[in-house]
Amino acid sequence: MNVLNLVRENIKNLQSYASARDEFTEANAELVFLDANENPFENGVNRYPDPQQKKVKQLLSQIKEVSMENILLGNGSDEVLDLIFRAFCEPNKNNIIILPPTYGMYKVLADINAIDVIEVQLTADFQPKTQTILLAANKQSKLLFLCSPNNPTGTSFSRVQVEKLLRQFKGIIVLDEAYIDFSEQESWLNRLEEFPNLVITQTMSKAYGMAGIRLGVCYASKEIISVLNSIKPPYNVNALTQQKALDRFSRMDEIQKEIQRIKMQKELLLKELKQVDFVEKVVPSDANFLLIKVDNATKRYQQLIEKGIVVRNRSNQSLCENCLRISIGTEMENEKLIESFQSISKS
Ligand SMILES: *Cc1c(COP(=O)(O)O)cnc(C)c1O
Repeated sequence: MNVLNLVRENIKNLQSYASARDEFTEANAELVFLDANENPFENGVNRYPDPQQKKVKQLLSQIKEVSMENILLGNGSDEVLDLIFRAFCEPNKNNIIILPPTYGMYKVLADINAIDVIEVQLTADFQPKTQTILLAANKQSKLLFLCSPNNPTGTSFSRVQVEKLLRQFKGIIVLDEAYIDFSEQESWLNRLEEFPNLVITQTMSKAYGMAGIRLGVCYASKEIISVLNSIKPPYNVNALTQQKALDRFSRMDEIQKEIQRIKMQKELLLKELKQVDFVEKVVPSDANFLLIKVDNATKRYQQLIEKGIVVRNRSNQSLCENCLRISIGTEMENEKLIESFQSISKS
């Protein structure tokens, strides 16, 4: 399979924008930069940022054990996902396959890019229906989105099924691993070389605790990364974002401790929520949230608001009738959540 055949014709032939900072980086202090019409007076951000974010990629490459040439960074994974659409999907012609209930942005991005969406619902225990997916795919199916651990269910997909899809789907598989750092399952990153049609996305917004800086990551073959690089806005990751990411990457122990605390709190919360009389089901979660089924989601959602707690009502999604999605907070926040559930239950 030559994945470059899946790239849109106009993108294949693209002459991408060469930015001033592509050729020389600020690493060389001897140079006088009069090439980008910047204000020359130093204030920390007067220069354009590194368009290739080399320092950030270097650290990330060590942390994730992936070569730098297999990494692309974006303004959140939402930008990364949009770049993938624009690289592979011809508007009003191609389609994508999504597996509801899942992350809402795939369909929104498809709609924005005028790409048809084929939906194949997950099974009752939130696994992909592999044969149905392969039968639903046609010549115009360019992307298949697998979100594992999945949002809003928190469940991970069976590795056997994912592998079957990787081997048999004729387009690109976008594996969204936004929650992988909370998961007991291994990332597919170390299998990247085996599957030329595999594109993995991750984010700094969840486990890494940097939703505010907007930093998303795409891992793929160097051929795919190079296509995505040719269409990304030159300075898509700003200087402050790059600084903050470097700063936090140098304190991975802190991030690991936070992940451990969140995972412990999740187990506690799971036990407590199961005791509440109006909670009918708590879905076992590989992420930093729990999907729970209650007797009446609208009513319970409202009661929680009155207690000052905002959760997400996911009732309108398929297989999620009367379901609330609850993020794992701090120890204190979770205590408040449990107390609220108990007092609602008694009233
Ligand atoms: C939160 C989330 C993201 C993150 O998006 P960013 O734009 O990086 O903040 C991506 N995918 C899924 C499934 C998510 O839940």
